[in-house]
Amino acid sequence: MLRVLLLIPTTTYRTEDFVAAAAKLDVEMVVASERPNVLEAALPDSLLTLDFAEPNKAARTVAEFARRHRIDAVVPVDDRTTVVGAAIAERLGLRSSSVEAVSTARNKHRMREAFARAGVRSPRFTLLGVADDPDAAAERATYPCVLKPTILAGSRGVIRADDPRAFVAAFRRIAAILEGPDLAGLGEGREEVLVEDFIPGHEVALEGLLIGGELHVLALFDKPDPLDGPYFEETIYVTPSGLPSDVQAAIAAEARWAARALGLTEGPIHAELRVNEQGPWVVEVAARTIGGLCSRTLRFGAGISLEELVIRQALGIELDSLERERRPAGVMMIPIPRGGVLRAVRGREAALAVPGIEDVTISAHAGQELVPLPEGSRYLGFILARAASPEAVEAALRAAHERLDIDIGPAGAGPPADPTEEPCA
Ligand code: ADP
Repeated sequence: MLRVLLLIPTTTYRTEDFVAAAAKLDVEMVVASERPNVLEAALPDSLLTLDFAEPNKAARTVAEFARRHRIDAVVPVDDRTTVVGAAIAERLGLRSSSVEAVSTARNKHRMREAFARAGVRSPRFTLLGVADDPDAAAERATYPCVLKPTILAGSRGVIRADDPRAFVAAFRRIAAILEGPDLAGLGEGREEVLVEDFIPGHEVALEGLLIGGELHVLALFDKPDPLDGPYFEETIYVTPSGLPSDVQAAIAAEARWAARALGLTEGPIHAELRVNEQGPWVVEVAARTIGGLCSRTLRFGAGISLEELVIRQALGIELDSLERERRPAGVMMIPIPRGGVLRAVRGREAALAVPGIEDVTISAHAGQELVPLPEGSRYLGFILARAASPEAVEAALRAAHERLDIDIGPAGAGPPADPTEEPCA
């Protein structure tokens, strides 16, 4: 029987969907995480602890494990495990993009350099260090611009500045985020702040699968809410895109070029692009699937999930169809309206009753501190819809969101006083 190694950080949203996909396929599954699991002693053949911050060390540990239990594929489930995944694949001779390519995609500055070298349409940029003088940099900058850390994801620390004052404030805010203890394991890149031209335009997300260096576009999502800053909180994704087919083809061509510029050859990519009168601009290409629970909008062929496609491809199992199910679908990443402690989310049943709504998952729990962007890194939850048209999907998502009553108490208030309140699922 084939055996797949899933690299699953403890705080990812992606566990359930990847584990379900592996379970559906008739394969053995080994789950590796960065913290020891209490069941590891009882299940030594199925659970592994790996230091994701040390790719070579992790690769040695897996090579040792693989001497006893052959591993046929390695699948990193999100950003934090792509580099270690490539290192393991390299060591074991498994299908993957190279460590070099995946590492380039993981650092926004290195990614911009690769794009510039290859002529990918991508914003002009300058790299600063957190110890640099922000006032001097603000004088030299052109406006509007975007400041961002090079190593974070989910729009964390991404801030637009329209003038030198906003530039300096954004710079200081990013430097403070990068000093946070939660980033201690991230290593290289914690001293970097990237400054880019702000690219106006309609934003899309492209989900693709690289097979032998060839990019197959799996889905293109429109993002109907304007993302003009100063922070860039993701909300609604809807597929199929309503853009004209020639624009969609130009987007796919630019994404293909960008993946090639990075040297990515195998596995999933998630690309963000902006489209304006000059054409599609590549904001970023990540060597992973779409984040959160958003992949639940996608089904392929006879009801196959994105995660199943990814695992099959890594194992070299035949992919029957890369055709997305036709029905329009979308997801809302429920915005965090303000910081504080989540008391409860009410109205889930009412939101579920909106025609077209397939699921409402509140992933934050009662008593949890909610931190909005640009500092925050967690979502409140996800609403999923399917309907006859992309417009109907979007309307359903908005209607469902309106029915949710998100009760947030002051920061530091601790758990809710009334434990019988509707729990956040
Ligand atoms: P992350 O990987 O954290 O999501 P990105 O670099 O993709 O970081 O930026 C997050 C979002 O911020 C993008 O999806 C886009 O909406 C916005 N953004 C980032 N850089 C730019 C830019 N140069 N011009 C315009 N918008 C940008």
